Amino acid sequence: MKILVINCGSSSLKYQLIDMERETVTAKGLCERIGIEGSKLTHKVPDREDVVIETPMPDHSVAVKLVFNELTGEHGVVGSVDEIDAIGHRVLHGANKFTQSCVVTPEVKKVIRECFDLGPLHNPANLMGIEACEKVVPGKKNIAVFDTTFGMSLPEKAYYYAIPTEYYEKYGIRRYGFHGTSHAYVSGETIRFGKLDPEKARVIVCHLGNGASISASIGGKAIDTSMGLTPLEGLIMGTRSGDVDGAVIQFIANHEHKTADEVLNILNKKSGILGMSGVSSDFRDVEKAAAEGNHMAKVALEAFRYRVAKYIGAYAAAMNGVDAISFTAGVGENDKNARKRIVEEYLGYLGAKIDDERNNVRGEERLISSDDSRVKIFLIPTNEELAIARDTKRLVLG
Ligand code: AMP
Repeated sequence: MKILVINCGSSSLKYQLIDMERETVTAKGLCERIGIEGSKLTHKVPDREDVVIETPMPDHSVAVKLVFNELTGEHGVVGSVDEIDAIGHRVLHGANKFTQSCVVTPEVKKVIRECFDLGPLHNPANLMGIEACEKVVPGKKNIAVFDTTFGMSLPEKAYYYAIPTEYYEKYGIRRYGFHGTSHAYVSGETIRFGKLDPEKARVIVCHLGNGASISASIGGKAIDTSMGLTPLEGLIMGTRSGDVDGAVIQFIANHEHKTADEVLNILNKKSGILGMSGVSSDFRDVEKAAAEGNHMAKVALEAFRYRVAKYIGAYAAAMNGVDAISFTAGVGENDKNARKRIVEEYLGYLGAKIDDERNNVRGEERLISSDDSRVKIFLIPTNEELAIARDTKRLVLG
């Protein structure tokens, strides 16, 4: 069985064709600058040279057509589109309508559209991707995999904001959580790889990348997660502030003569380690600046680790203990110092101990805690595409 996984942004389309027998990537690529001058498709097949096609892509349908041409044409990896069993689409927001992934129907598309204001950057693009596939390969099964479904198992005490309930009832304002596909995958892998109790294992997943979030789950079922109504809440991120007092928005708006939308744009795009350090949103640049003596770069990184540690503490309390902590995503998978410092500076009270030799690793599944650590600590590389493909396969097989 072969599954095509599609992740659409407003001007981009990432894809992977996954062979589900071996769970390997047959081909993958990226369409950039869709709808903008200078559109480009980069198509990659393992052990072959990359193919780069520069051609106009006025909309996502043209991009999808080009992707199928590449998959089936001269540099193709399948004889025809018939060999592709289904298409799995990443969809950001499903509000509280979907507790699991589902086959795309007119009703599902209607809900994705209704969620445009909850995911204004992503949901319209996600829907465009689905509709482009319906147009280019009619009859092919499309599956929507929502980033919000992992958070649907949160108990009421974790998902309600302490604001008048009428806003939940009228607008669905609650904590949803994002990076759900990653948290579901990594918590599941932690249980499998760590041979933990599939029903009872209390796992904290630290997804630390440019976007960063943290989740607590028991037996793979989320009980809390750090992002909220939108991905703004929680940890300090590359460009997002994470938690702030809501009054900050009013204060900046009043003093800088800005609208709430403009201030939110600052909190989403100009804050986080970028805003604090004034250097970059890339952790490597900020680390370099800190090493060269830039004080606020150092503070930004310290604040980032401190916030992660505070959430771990909160989630250990929420679960009355923790059996395993897993690190994933760009920083979590590559930055051994960040992992070491979070554990050594803040998690001693949990009996958590890093093993330096085991921790000297990047991007591979590994136990990185010492044998006498009371909490198992893992590095588990995330694989959201594989998680989407697995869900798609499950729904196609019925
Ligand atoms: P992601 O959003 O998961 O792709 O993660 C991107 C982030 O990971 C960027 O901010 C990078 O700076 C960070 N990253 C990647 N490699 C490293 C590394 N070796 N050390 C520190 N940060 C890294």
